[in-house]
Amino acid sequence: MRVAFIGLGVMGYPMAGHVQKSGTSVCVYNRTTKKAEEWCKEFGGEMADTPSLAAKDCDVVLVCVGNDDDVRQVVTGAEGALKGMKDNAILVDHTTASASLARELQSESASQGKRFLDAPVSGGQAGAENGALTVMIGGNEETYNAAKPIIDTYSKFNKLLGPAGNGQLAKAANQICIAGVVEGLAEALHFAMKAGLNGEDLIETISKGAAGSWQMENRYQTMLSDEYEFGFAVDWMRKDLGIALKEARRNGVEMPLVEMVDEFYSEVQKSGGGRWDTSSLLTRYTRE
Ligand code: NAP
Repeated sequence: MRVAFIGLGVMGYPMAGHVQKSGTSVCVYNRTTKKAEEWCKEFGGEMADTPSLAAKDCDVVLVCVGNDDDVRQVVTGAEGALKGMKDNAILVDHTTASASLARELQSESASQGKRFLDAPVSGGQAGAENGALTVMIGGNEETYNAAKPIIDTYSKFNKLLGPAGNGQLAKAANQICIAGVVEGLAEALHFAMKAGLNGEDLIETISKGAAGSWQMENRYQTMLSDEYEFGFAVDWMRKDLGIALKEARRNGVEMPLVEMVDEFYSEVQKSGGGRWDTSSLLTRYTRE
């Protein structure tokens, strides 16, 4: 089994590392060559100068870049991965992108005799580093079963949720849930601070009941300390909520809460917080 990994960002770098550490040889490509060199030094795999060269002779090609356009560049561009892939090889896109892109890539891959899965992830940088991501997958069952041993190396749970695009639709639902939970947490902490409650005591108590959440457990301390350098960036969240809102409009679904939180995140961006983590919604209430 040979694997290529394209996109060694916060997520891709450790994910590719888990595949290499599992004993499968990995060839990486990264737009900024220095990161690929660092990766090879740390994990001992190979690197290539283009996505197409990285994908050559590989059975599975994993991609984790930024958005729809970035995926197009590294997959179907002049030196894109599809060009280099052998017949029947599997392209797995871990980027959070649109369901329509996933369907487009499924059909492009099939017309070139290759297989495709859309497979966005959840679990953040820590999940990627610990090999404990959740992976939401769209595609056909045979392709999923063939790629699963590789995906297992960096995930604690992965599941096929239906045809191409369904992985991305599940990720959109995931982000819709997070948007509401984080805004609720920001409002509760602001309310408590204004009322003179002790934040630590409050969370110690209410996190044990029905109000508890991953965001509460993992972010309340940094929120109380007004620190926002701990995870998924506001810029990425706006991309994801944009994907969700576009799909909702197409499908006639109302999402008033997501519309509102998306607007709040745009205010955080305007105040310079595009790279802050998503819990920075609290700054709208606490900073001048
Ligand atoms: P990141 O750290 O910004 O890394 C992005 C990677 O994509 C880099 O390797 C970058 O190359 C490459 N890239 C971007 N545009 C490219 C292009 N046009 N051509 C070639 N390479 C390109 O991002 P990340 O945090 O790893 O996130 C990657 C994806 O996972 C995003 O879709 C994000 O929404 C999703 N995600 C992220 C998290 C998280 O907590 N970070 C969690 C779940 C899902 P360079 O090194 O040259 O810039």
